Amino acid sequence: MRRYGKHTDEDDVRVRPNRKGNRPRTNIRPKHEDAAEGFVLTVDRGRLTCLVEGRTITAMKARELGRKGVVVGDRVGIVGDLSGAKDTLARIVRVEERSSVLRRTADDDDPYERVVVANADQLAIVTALADPEPRPRLIDRCLVAAFDAGLDPLLVLTKSDLSPAGPLLETYETLGVPYVVTNRAQLADGGAAELVRGRLADRITAFVGHSGVGKTTLVNALVPDRQRATGVVNAVTGRGRHTTTSALALPLTADAATGGKGGWVIDTPGVRSFGLNHIDPSRVIHAFPDLVPGTEGCPRACSHDEKDCALDGWAAEGHADPARLHSLRRLLATRERREGD
Ligand code: ZN
Repeated sequence: MRRYGKHTDEDDVRVRPNRKGNRPRTNIRPKHEDAAEGFVLTVDRGRLTCLVEGRTITAMKARELGRKGVVVGDRVGIVGDLSGAKDTLARIVRVEERSSVLRRTADDDDPYERVVVANADQLAIVTALADPEPRPRLIDRCLVAAFDAGLDPLLVLTKSDLSPAGPLLETYETLGVPYVVTNRAQLADGGAAELVRGRLADRITAFVGHSGVGKTTLVNALVPDRQRATGVVNAVTGRGRHTTTSALALPLTADAATGGKGGWVIDTPGVRSFGLNHIDPSRVIHAFPDLVPGTEGCPRACSHDEKDCALDGWAAEGHADPARLHSLRRLLATRERREGD
């Protein structure tokens, strides 16, 4: 680290009073090197609730971050009043590099992609087997988003007492997506949460699902005292309903089911659609490592869902399970179809 380099603007040298030595600071050193590390729990109209050294504080984005977005799951550098006292507002001055970015567009025609969650490593897709009916197209879209972002998907099926899980699971068998099947009694008595909990240890898991599937019930059972766990009061009503459009990160209690490890549950607002305008098919194929070698003969920038794709011939020669290629094609095709098809 160079401490004494060429100055680049008039703010380079600042004298900090009340600090030992009154050393001049230069911006050749990392900016705000004394910033505390924070973790973004939720975002509400420009106010970010962050966990800093065990305290929940409110912060806003520093102007110097410009248009860079800060989202739930981000690891950030924070300066200012970090006491967490009422009416204090700290500043987020840095966003650490993200290990993953879960995106969606509101609609396939929507040019604006929204980052839903940063740094998650698992996507739990909560779907009821009946009431409401499962929507395989929506599940496929969530899978594509997960594969695109490099998240491991987890299928959480609810209400198996109303309809058996078998037919739906058959659809996903060749994808090898792990799953948990639960019924309404288990949702009510916390048994469903216990089944899911073991899969969440030491991971950051984003939960998606549309209304009525039991996602909120499940998340509430996973983090029973969510309000106290995060101090996020504004975002959660007395009923535990999450009222903002932002996701909300909740700490998972370390217990026997998680092997003594914690983890994070990130509840996302109910989604009706999952726009995939931003998806890059070349990233989705990496969720199919068995098919990747077959793409060597593909034309440049092949979507792997077009006439000249080399995968058909390659699979026909017996190099891969045709069912796997069929699954990949089904997922890629879901980019093109309208929601509700
Ligand atoms: Zn191809």
